[in-house]
Amino acid sequence: MTTTELLDFDRRHLWHPYTSTVSPLPVFPVAEAHGVHITLMDGRDLIDGMSSWWAAIHGYNHPILNAAVEKQLRRMSHIMFGGLTHEPAVELGEKLLRILPPSMNQIFYADSGSVAVEVAMKMAIQYWQTEGKTSKHHFATIRSGYHGDTWHAMSVCDPITGMHGLFSGSLPVQYFLPQPPIRFYDEWDDCAMLPLENLLENRGDELAALILEPVVQGAGGMYFYHPQFLVKARELCDRYHVLLIFDEIATGFGRTGKLFAWEWANIEPDIICIGKALTGGYMTLSAVATTKSIADQVCSGKAGCFMHGPTFMGNPLACAVASASVSLLLESNWEEKVHQIERQLRTELSPAVTFPVVREVRVLGTIGVIEMREAVDIERMQAAFVAEGIWVRPFGRLVYIMPPYIINEEELHVLCRGLLHVIAKCYGL
Ligand code: PMP
Repeated sequence: MTTTELLDFDRRHLWHPYTSTVSPLPVFPVAEAHGVHITLMDGRDLIDGMSSWWAAIHGYNHPILNAAVEKQLRRMSHIMFGGLTHEPAVELGEKLLRILPPSMNQIFYADSGSVAVEVAMKMAIQYWQTEGKTSKHHFATIRSGYHGDTWHAMSVCDPITGMHGLFSGSLPVQYFLPQPPIRFYDEWDDCAMLPLENLLENRGDELAALILEPVVQGAGGMYFYHPQFLVKARELCDRYHVLLIFDEIATGFGRTGKLFAWEWANIEPDIICIGKALTGGYMTLSAVATTKSIADQVCSGKAGCFMHGPTFMGNPLACAVASASVSLLLESNWEEKVHQIERQLRTELSPAVTFPVVREVRVLGTIGVIEMREAVDIERMQAAFVAEGIWVRPFGRLVYIMPPYIINEEELHVLCRGLLHVIAKCYGL
């Protein structure tokens, strides 16, 4: 198939994330990817700034991860998890229990981040049902969050920037609190908790859980808030008998500078969702973990079990590569590497604040964000990034990067320089 034929079929028949069939945005055909390099079919090489949306933390085509997939492939790529179990699922579970919050000891494997969020929300509802508290089936969350594209996950995404407008009337109604006003590096003030306290006091009887992305809100705005918010939220959830769910799907596996973002606050949620980098970006897999007492209560109701069990639950291929990816991360000097990347991002992206079109530059861990004053022209900017030899995918007002941890100093320099250069070029600066 020629590149022209491929692009023609793609344009006519394949849907891409958040794109139109009437006027689809252009796509760039990829031949292969190695390390932090993406090779396009026309031979051009791009330095990856996205880790394929937070996932490919070790870069692409990693020999250790490839070997894990190949080894498992020769045994079985899939087997049903109903009534059967296998080494990859157990090995991964053992590794996860060592790194998840200490109170977590029941793991539910799910298919994707969005499904993990659905599973967590279902768990919370079933938990209260078994206590006879059937009115506790709503959720509280904070504005500017993002939790996925499936039904209940969508209902807790930001009501304005999310999809509420489109699906209003059919989405479950949830309670939205203001985005935590105190930023990561600012001084804490307890006043920030008043809206949550009011809500829990007045609506606690209706709320199954508070769900949020700890410390870093991703696709809803790339915003970093103060970890003390989580400490106080934990106290309030306990006081008003509301479960606390952390969506660590984007923040997990070192991205923020801690292995998981809950460690910034050092408090534990009742339920935690992980995904994305769980498999090192090799394939889709997520996990929901909770405490033994919550799990047991969920299963003690009328149904006698947790009512979820997807076809590809605990997929051995995905578990095997996830297990290899977790070990690879833990055996690496990831913390030092993440801090090194953080320092370089701070130094090399900060000159962008002098651009009049830029509102703010912020960095945490390996996440570098340039927030523009106005939404960017994605098509134009995307083409300019590719011409510059870097892969960056902006959205809305956000031009951001979160490269694989294996990126070296020179590659990161090319990425940061390219980012600033493209912004300057697109705005004639
Ligand atoms: N939660 C968060 C915090 C996310 O960033 C995402 C994906 N961007 C999801 C949930 C949904 O994950 P998935 O796309 O794998 O369904």
